[in-house]
Amino acid sequence: MADTLHLQIITPDKQLVREDVDQVQIPGKTGYLGVLPGHAPLLTELMIGEISYNQGGETQYFAVSWGFAEVLPHKVTILADTAERAEDIDVKRAQEAKTRAEEALRTAAADLDFDATLFALRRAEVRLEVAAKAGHTTAAH
Ligand code: ATP
Repeated sequence: MADTLHLQIITPDKQLVREDVDQVQIPGKTGYLGVLPGHAPLLTELMIGEISYNQGGETQYFAVSWGFAEVLPHKVTILADTAERAEDIDVKRAQEAKTRAEEALRTAAADLDFDATLFALRRAEVRLEVAAKAGHTTAAH
């Protein structure tokens, strides 16, 4: 018990994860944060990126965007605006979102919301990267 972390990943739609894990990696505001049991308490904003956690030698991957993570010595709570398990990512949809964002940036219409389009591109890229890891979750150790 003392050597595990209780991890919850929650979005406005659903609870994706509620499990005891060995360690978790979070895309925090200042970069990726690796959390092991006993970590000092902290609160961080989440960026667009990948969350991964290890549990009994297996690694699970999620794409996330925005939100907050609360780290306590034996509990990590992630409240994300969006989060998808690698296996649940719709690759075609992410590819289309990426193409749309790239096209919008290339065309650069006068009313383009540049920041929003860059974020859409980043979300799509991360979804594609994370989806590519589905099926490879037990080999990386
Ligand atoms: P799109 O343009 O394809 O809607 P988006 O980046 O604008 O992509 P978001 O606003 O980040 O989409 O997410 C809206 C909802 O759709 C969230 O619940 C998110 O988890 C889900 N979602 C978005 N893209 C995908 C995807 N490729 N596969 C699975 N779920 C997705």
